Amino acid sequence: MSELSKIFGSNVFTDAVMREKLPTAVYDAFRNIIDNNLTLDPNLAEIVAGAMKEWAMERGATHYCHWFQPMTGLTAEKHNSFISTSKEGKIITEFSGKDLIKGESDASSFPNGGIRATFEARGYTAWDFTSPAFVKDKTLYIPTAFCSYSGEALDKKTPLLRSMDALNREGLRVLRALGNKTARKVIAYVGAEQEYFLIDRELFMKRKDLIFTGRTLFGARPPKGQEMGDQYYASIKTRVLNFMQDLDVELWKLGIPGKTRHNEAAPAQHEIAPIYNVVNVAADQNQLMMEVMKKVAARHGLACLLHEKPFAGVNGSGKHNNWSIGTDDGVNLLDPGPEPHKNTIFLLFLAAIIKAIDVYGDVIRSSAANAGNDYRLGAHEAPPAIVSVFLGDQLTDIIDQIEKEGEAKKSICSTKLEMGASALPVFARDITDRNRTSPIAFTGNKFEFRMVGSSASIAGPNFIINTAVADILHDVADRLEASGNPEEEAKKIIREYFHEHKRVIFNGDNYSEEWVKEAERRGLPNITNFVDAKRTLIAEKNIRMFARMGVLSEKECLSRYEILMENYNKTIKIEALTAIDMVERDILPAVYRYIKEIAECINQVRATGIHIILEKREKLLKDLSTLAVSAEEKVAKLKEAVNEASSIGDVTAQGIAYRDKVIPVMQSLREDIDTLETMVDSKYWPIPTYGEMFFGME
Ligand code: ADP
Ligand code: MG
Repeated sequence: MSELSKIFGSNVFTDAVMREKLPTAVYDAFRNIIDNNLTLDPNLAEIVAGAMKEWAMERGATHYCHWFQPMTGLTAEKHNSFISTSKEGKIITEFSGKDLIKGESDASSFPNGGIRATFEARGYTAWDFTSPAFVKDKTLYIPTAFCSYSGEALDKKTPLLRSMDALNREGLRVLRALGNKTARKVIAYVGAEQEYFLIDRELFMKRKDLIFTGRTLFGARPPKGQEMGDQYYASIKTRVLNFMQDLDVELWKLGIPGKTRHNEAAPAQHEIAPIYNVVNVAADQNQLMMEVMKKVAARHGLACLLHEKPFAGVNGSGKHNNWSIGTDDGVNLLDPGPEPHKNTIFLLFLAAIIKAIDVYGDVIRSSAANAGNDYRLGAHEAPPAIVSVFLGDQLTDIIDQIEKEGEAKKSICSTKLEMGASALPVFARDITDRNRTSPIAFTGNKFEFRMVGSSASIAGPNFIINTAVADILHDVADRLEASGNPEEEAKKIIREYFHEHKRVIFNGDNYSEEWVKEAERRGLPNITNFVDAKRTLIAEKNIRMFARMGVLSEKECLSRYEILMENYNKTIKIEALTAIDMVERDILPAVYRYIKEIAECINQVRATGIHIILEKREKLLKDLSTLAVSAEEKVAKLKEAVNEASSIGDVTAQGIAYRDKVIPVMQSLREDIDTLETMVDSKYWPIPTYGEMFFGME
């Protein structure tokens, strides 16, 4: 066995481990439950728990924990040791089926949007047995979902699991109606490309803004940024490569198949992408990956920044969410095949997805909204805030044919690419070029949703995409089932959906001004900020969709909205308070020290009696003082704005106040400070500069 295959998944309670550890009949019964979405039998759980404990203890585990994803966007874990006492008072190890299936946790201490009052404490974690358990830091981690005493979802995972059921249910109905008898499941798959920055840890520790908020609140543009285009795919620096190698091994042990790694467009920016997986497993793995990235970075004296916009003036970080749907017998329903114009099932699913994106584009957009992403979306480096779909030449041509002639008769084929040198191979060109500016791009056999922010849990976007698509498939299935000729009905639906929803298809440059105007003409929403985006979660049509698909009740939508708004409001408040602290206690004192030095210098030169006027120094003194005073005034204004905003009771009104009253003052304060940075003697400047953070690594 190669080294890699020995390492891979060595800390995961995989299917292979279960097959080995469980009696065959138990394994088969458990597998049957997973494969056919059946209810778990508690007796089985008892046996699985025993095997899991034994396996985990062989790997040095002393504790187990229910691992879940509360609405903080982070993960949570409460450790319990396997230790118990026997009736005779002896110490024994124990881990029962009940311990595995259910945990209890204080729901009122997690964001719950009013679902739990402080005195109503009980909440539960429930084992997600479709995502494998693993051992990390001598602890057995059990992936779980988290809900309130009354069963409402209080986490990122529950709606994701429910949305998978909805997609499975409606997708299967469509396939069955069209004669498919073999598929047992329709599954959403996701591969998330994770962008991040790496900087020296010592520099990180000197910046309160990075420590408290994850992004730099100040920082003048350095002489060099990303304008040379010399970072993307550049040769990887030794220190970074050491980190990447170590990270890959740690991820492989946890069964996360890290595959691609490279430098990204901005200095100090990188990307890692694992091989795709079933969406709930992919979401768990992405959460785990982000944690491991931070830990491994610290081990290498580095800090891993996952914020969407850690630095102004260079690209921010996203998390391209590659999404597809397939069946358990290995068919990718988004694979067009060699002759897509004849592939009715593909065209039908495609048409349903286009309709879902058009009808539910607003809430799909909202799924990518967080405070950090507001600095990224639409900033000519990431997709704009307008949701549209790129389909490329081949599919667009088929839709055109359907539109003009009622059906498509041919598909554009791939052509050969010759590079003009005999030493180079001739190969088939992809049928369609890429479009890097599209927020939702069809890339061969999957959709790449590019709006998602780098720090976000992918559970949010995916439960919303799954639900929106399931909702449309529901209508499709109703029509096919009611029709005497489902094949013909399918073609009719394809024609109708493409015709009615083609406005959401756009193959051009999404970064251009013309597109913004064109999108407006087409009536597509352009939701530029978090507050407006999140409100769509509680728009009537969207609440209806979530409820109809059994993914979120109205109460759950409302509580989720509250939680997300609160989170935004707190984030901006922390940023403002950090900015105030840095300016008052670090930056302005440094500026005044420099002002004093110049003033003393001027006076001392004057005192010598030499008749020379230090004109430039005097101007500098004046400019510095003017800016320092201006910054002081802005700090006072910012304090006032924060006080006002935080005294507002309603979460929406508070969000609007943070967005319109606090952020602009913070931004304007930043302008003064960044100008000061370019004027003050570098020996006085109290925080590491962009240049040092970008290019300090060997
Ligand atoms: P890019 O060239 O867009 O940067 P990457 O190779 O970095 O692509 O990432 C592509 C991601 O898409 C990977 O995680 C890959 O496993 C995933 N992927 C590939 N095929 C599918 C599919 N059918 N469904 C979902 N994800 C997929
Ligand atoms: Mg990539």
